[in-house]
Amino acid sequence: MKGNITSSIKRFLVVFLCVFLALIPTFSSYAASEDGQGEALTVGVPTDRCPIFYQDADTGEIVGIGVDLMRSAAKNAGYSVTFKSLEEETLKDALDNPSYDVLLPFGSAISSASGQSSIVTDNLLQTPFTLVTEGHHDMPPFNVLKVAMLRSLSGAADTVHQLYPEIEITMYDTMQECVQALRSNKVNALLHNSYVWSYVLQKPSYSDLEVQPSSMFSMDFRAGTADTPRGREIIRRLNDGIAALTDTERQAVILDYTSRRLYRMDFGDYVYKYGLFVLLIFLLFVALIIMAVQRVHSVRRKNEEKLQQMIDHDPLTGVLSMQGFRKRVVELLSTYPDVPYLLAYVNIKNFKYINDSLGWDAGDELLCFWADKTRKTLSDKEALCRISADRFAVLRSVGGDEKLKWDDREVIDAVRTYFLDQGKKTRVQICGGLYVLTPEDHREIDVDHMLDLARVAEKRVREMRSDGYEFYNPEQWEKGRQIADVINHLPEALKAGDIQVWYQPQVDYDTGRITGAEALCRWDHTKLGWLQPADFISTLEESGLIFDLDSYVWDKVCQDLQHWNKQGIRRFISVNVSRCDFREDRDIPEHFHNLTKRYGLDPEQLRIEITETAYAEKSELLIHATEKLRGYGFQVEMDDFGSGYSSLHMLKEVPVDRIKLDLRFLTDAGDPERGRIIIGYMIRMIRSLGMQMITEGVETREQADFLRDQGCSEMQGYYFYKPMSIEDFEKI
Ligand code: C2E
Ligand code: CA
Ligand code: CA
Repeated sequence: MKGNITSSIKRFLVVFLCVFLALIPTFSSYAASEDGQGEALTVGVPTDRCPIFYQDADTGEIVGIGVDLMRSAAKNAGYSVTFKSLEEETLKDALDNPSYDVLLPFGSAISSASGQSSIVTDNLLQTPFTLVTEGHHDMPPFNVLKVAMLRSLSGAADTVHQLYPEIEITMYDTMQECVQALRSNKVNALLHNSYVWSYVLQKPSYSDLEVQPSSMFSMDFRAGTADTPRGREIIRRLNDGIAALTDTERQAVILDYTSRRLYRMDFGDYVYKYGLFVLLIFLLFVALIIMAVQRVHSVRRKNEEKLQQMIDHDPLTGVLSMQGFRKRVVELLSTYPDVPYLLAYVNIKNFKYINDSLGWDAGDELLCFWADKTRKTLSDKEALCRISADRFAVLRSVGGDEKLKWDDREVIDAVRTYFLDQGKKTRVQICGGLYVLTPEDHREIDVDHMLDLARVAEKRVREMRSDGYEFYNPEQWEKGRQIADVINHLPEALKAGDIQVWYQPQVDYDTGRITGAEALCRWDHTKLGWLQPADFISTLEESGLIFDLDSYVWDKVCQDLQHWNKQGIRRFISVNVSRCDFREDRDIPEHFHNLTKRYGLDPEQLRIEITETAYAEKSELLIHATEKLRGYGFQVEMDDFGSGYSSLHMLKEVPVDRIKLDLRFLTDAGDPERGRIIIGYMIRMIRSLGMQMITEGVETREQADFLRDQGCSEMQGYYFYKPMSIEDFEKI
């Protein structure tokens, strides 16, 4: 029973809904007949012709000059009107569609697509048609004029054709296509009614288009419909309505639409008009995104760094943890392969006692004090870590006895007496083991192994004595100490005249005459006796002191040359320039130029020796310096030719005056016969390149004879002379 009632209600609702839906069009057409009285007419109009007919963007209603005039005329005739957008392409097609009562706009009566004739009303409005051209183009005469029109204006096109048969008309679907045709010179002008132009030309990208001042013709603007009895009746009544329209009314409608800012810019228009602005906004947007991404990355990186920082550092003292120390040591040893280092393992012997008697806090304070003291003495080539509890490790560059003593006094002593200085009775006992790194340690870096060795020495101290330090490898220390001594004493040695310049004569084997000499330095060391360049040059190069030594030698050589010049003896001396002397911030050519100026020397008297390997290392800088040196008149020699891997390449690239071939590089190893063949070819090659050359390291008569036979007679070597003091040199 209950089910029956429910299904009856359902059925009723369905029927009601169907009836309601069926009635909607009726309701709506009633609502659309605007004043709701009089007979209703459906008027078909195009809607692509603002401001004559168009759809209001806000309300969707069809509005425009034509709409308002038609509505007024129809109202005068007792009709209410509903406007409908034409779906057909042309009025001819629309005439065959019975759902329109009336159509707009007609210039005159035409027949429909199916051949049915039409009738039209009197003129509602006179519409002037004008031409539009590109601003910078002149209007061609009518007999050669090509015009573009919208396809929907085929009626107007017919009129033009009748009035001006010589004009060539091309129809396009859209205004955009018309403008395109004009810009690509397919047509000379566009034709449309001037009300439409007043609207269309507001588009920013059409600002290059120009309306021609006088109109070509005027079109009538009429309503029309199929020629039927009802049609004739409608037209008759509408004509009465049109007759009742006053000119003032017409003007008011036109003014209303043409003075409105109707044109609505689309996205393309905004881009065109505000292109730069839009681009800037876009770039700003992109920049913001990039910044945001970078920010995220940098925050993440910072967090990672923070975490790493925590892992690599000891939380109590802030110095490196063992993990951080391992990394830092590897980094330092690889960056400074020639710096002599030692590794110290240091331990507080009575730390447990200190903790027990003075408390943990006191123990912690002591550790922090020690870490702080040590850290302050470190250069950025050194490192410190707390291994655990009271054990520390230090990587320190070898600075000779003095540095070690200084460390002991300034750091260790202060730690030893830390509590005594506070009036407490405990003396801190410190045991240290030192391991001096060998060249192999630089090549195969094993931090833990080195530390183990240092610990072995520390253990010896701990077991035998109350405190102090010991070396694991004292012989290695002895070597490093000497070198450190050299470095530490260079400034004093230069001042004290311990560094001397010796000369090794160079001879012409053909004539037996001395042609020049090479200046070589010697160090008369207070403790170590005579030192050869091999003992200290590379150390000075590594420690950045070589320029001090070299500039001293060059100065001395110039003094000697000046001295000889005054005696009427003109000599030629070769000086060595280390590869480390050349730096971006140091102008070596300028330095030599000033030197020769100061001593009044002819630059030719100074021959600048630069090693082949230096050229390979810093090609660009050195080639530039070489050119500049030669520009000042100096002779530039490539030293140790044949020692590097790129000799032949260097010959091609580097603009030197003289090549210095080193016999030792070419004869020391391998088959001597092969060595001779190579030397022979090298001499011929250097000669063919038109360069001068000298061979050094000549020790025997056979060598000298061979070189002369091959074409090189300039020589330097023990066979002739060894390097000698200036006194001896002056004697020969
Ligand atoms: P170098 O420029 O190749 O100088 C030639 C070296 O070979 C000199 O060694 C010289 O004594 C040695 N020598 C000459 N003839 C013979 C020979 O027949 N047989 C042998 N076995 N050796 C011979 P020295 O004076 O020990 O200089 C060694 C290196 O030290 C030089 O090699 C040069 O590179 C560098 N040096 C010397 N003095 C200076 C200087 O004032 N400044 C710079 N930057 N480097 C210098
Ligand atoms: Ca040399
Ligand atoms: Ca040499």
